[in-house]
Amino acid sequence: MERVRTVLAAADEWSPMVQTINLALFLAEAALYFSLMTALLHFRHRIGLGVFLTALGVMHFVETYLAAVFYVSLPFGVVSPGSSVFFTGKLMMILMLYIKEDASTVRQPIYGLFLGNLVTVAVAQVVLLHQPVEMAPRQFADMGFLQDMGLLMIWGTALLYLDALGIILLYERLGRTWLRRTVVRFALSGMLVLTFDQIGFYALLNYLYDAPASVFWGGLKAKMFSVTLYAAFFMLYQSMFRDHNITHSRRPIGDVFSDLTFRERYEDLLSRTGRDMLTGLYDRSRMEIEAPRLIRESLRIGTPVSLAIVDVDHFKSVNDRFGHLHGDEVLKAIADGMAGQLREGDHIFRYGGEEFVVLMPEASHGDALGLAGHLCRTMAATIRNMAGEPVTISIGVATAPHDGGSFNSLLALADERLYKAKDAGRNCVVGIV
Ligand code: GH3
Ligand code: MG
Ligand code: MG
Repeated sequence: MERVRTVLAAADEWSPMVQTINLALFLAEAALYFSLMTALLHFRHRIGLGVFLTALGVMHFVETYLAAVFYVSLPFGVVSPGSSVFFTGKLMMILMLYIKEDASTVRQPIYGLFLGNLVTVAVAQVVLLHQPVEMAPRQFADMGFLQDMGLLMIWGTALLYLDALGIILLYERLGRTWLRRTVVRFALSGMLVLTFDQIGFYALLNYLYDAPASVFWGGLKAKMFSVTLYAAFFMLYQSMFRDHNITHSRRPIGDVFSDLTFRERYEDLLSRTGRDMLTGLYDRSRMEIEAPRLIRESLRIGTPVSLAIVDVDHFKSVNDRFGHLHGDEVLKAIADGMAGQLREGDHIFRYGGEEFVVLMPEASHGDALGLAGHLCRTMAATIRNMAGEPVTISIGVATAPHDGGSFNSLLALADERLYKAKDAGRNCVVGIV
């Protein structure tokens, strides 16, 4: 690090060597940003989605600051890592969140960033009214910067909002042509939206500061370069973690747009967090909304979807022998344990007391039996009560379309099979017999 700094300080900032080092740093920044943010996104079920979302918000601040004041020379022009690597990265992360979750989740950071920016601008206007004290020589706040930021931020915020909605809608639109070519859709939607963004942002820079055309082209190239990098990283990530999660949906774009803009039918229900307090899993009310939708989607694209009901064996005796608090701990350990074993695209809900429902899109009956068996064995091997005895689970599995096409019919059949599993001695799975 120190050596790079010394070499750079001694050289002319336009020299090819400096440009090459800047390019290498640019690559390192993109790799670092992508790997850290993707890790937070990947482990969201274990650490909570809030960690990823907060990190996204924090990076947004750094990126905005850098985009305003920090520029370096690269072989293809003068660019800011803020407005290229990090801004592009943020949009790509928003798209990845959408790919892994859904529109009703991704709209949270979209609106959070939008409203957070507006609050920042409003607060800055009040802060500017202060008469500040000089703490040390040359340690004064750059008030002009805050003032300029106002307009740039409002404009940037509006653009960011359009970009975030746009990148998701484009990704969906491209799905009509290339349903399974996720990386191509990822790259193309990124390029189109960032081109739009660059035009919009340059228009204001040109209006405010007479920014020359080279700023436009330099920024555009840097953004396209960044998208290409992120698409390559995304491809690498996909191949490292076979991602069953990606539901290749063909939802009407109007539906996605409605979800993104809080206009869906179940708005009131969905806006409740729908989380169960004890386990942190989605609760039954959320299941009633999500499960029928997931099943409908699978049937529409012609893939099977399986549903499993999980019930803890002899759980009443855990409570009776060790108390309710210990029972709660065991229940939480089971919920965490199961969530950690699911494939990326599976959904788990707390159905009732010690009962859970797992929805597995794109899982045939055989796949689902395999996964359920794996859950049984893992729980029996890892979950212990206070006396060190294993706590086991029983599971009933049903699969659409074979077992019916509606959520209720799958639930009823899976429940019937769960009882058979109990009768068969517990700690086992029953499917189509
Ligand atoms: P089986 O193997 O037949 O399923 O036996 P079981 O004892 O698990 O069945 P039963 O349905 O009789 O008991 C479920 C128990 O789960 C009863 C209830 O007190 C307990 N329970 C339900 N919700 C909670 C909870 O949130 N915390 C705790 N500690 N216990 C709960
Ligand atoms: Mg029960
Ligand atoms: Mg039970």
